[in-house]
Amino acid sequence: MKVHTVTGEIDTSELGYTLIHEHAVTCCDWSMRMCLRKQFCEEERLLEMAVTQLGKAYAAGIRTIVDGTPINLGRDIRLIKRASELSKVRVIVSSGFYHQEDPWLVWKPKEEIYDYLAYECAHGLEETSILPGIMKCAVDYRGMTSYILKMLGITADAAKKYRLPVFCHTIPELKQGGAVLDIMQEHGVPLNRVVAGHSGDVDDIEYLESLLQRGCYVGLDRFGTVTATPGTTLERRTDTLIRLCKDGWEKQLLISHDYAPYTGFVPSWKEACTNEALENPVNFTYFEKYAVPMLLEKGLPIDTIRRITNQNPRNYFEGISL
Ligand SMILES: [Zn+2]
Repeated sequence: MKVHTVTGEIDTSELGYTLIHEHAVTCCDWSMRMCLRKQFCEEERLLEMAVTQLGKAYAAGIRTIVDGTPINLGRDIRLIKRASELSKVRVIVSSGFYHQEDPWLVWKPKEEIYDYLAYECAHGLEETSILPGIMKCAVDYRGMTSYILKMLGITADAAKKYRLPVFCHTIPELKQGGAVLDIMQEHGVPLNRVVAGHSGDVDDIEYLESLLQRGCYVGLDRFGTVTATPGTTLERRTDTLIRLCKDGWEKQLLISHDYAPYTGFVPSWKEACTNEALENPVNFTYFEKYAVPMLLEKGLPIDTIRRITNQNPRNYFEGISL
């Protein structure tokens, strides 16, 4: 089966080691980039940073990155394409929208927003012929507002029509995954084509298994991020992964970091663009370098780890029944 990447269509057998949710170059605000220019970030340096980090990923055996940057999170398809070509890491890119309540989305009729997504899926992103390989949507701390319900419904309709899988950003401590799955199901998206994103930020096994029982994928996709949320340390993230494997869910787990060479939110550009910042151990290779040794030490077989890093993403893109 074929899947679209930023450098062209490939067979799913070529995906290899795949990270399910990253930002290949940046999460950035287009308004900030347009108006503040080099004060906010500098394009050629951004590209160098991305190529450096993607190069480390390639050296660590990672062959494909799924970029989760939608339209209103600063997706820059030309920069992503250049970074992919220079690093050799394939990048699958997203159509869709993030959760913020922008007035030009809140007040727009849903038909018009659907047409934006349908155009991207049929013709290409940002006036290129590059097609998305996945749809992105998001629900955040405000929960299932009428705006979010509208946006999730539109995303699901586009995913169904263009036969694309969906990654949904959720806040797992608010247990939003079930409601997201309900909407996807109501709009005809099979749940084996849906990732309940960022679920690994909690170690609430009962909640995680309530999602897995419905036949979706669960994203353990923020390795390297530590927040105040219970479950986010490396120790606890690896424990959760092992527990879910023991309970028989290894076929439905996907891993990643949600890393961006430059996150436009934090830290400052001046700090982020230094050579020292590029040496931070948290990057696209953190799972391979830090989580894998810990998982092996805790007794998880290497075959199980490779099934999760290589086979599960392939099954997800192929829509194989679980
Ligand atoms: Zn993300």
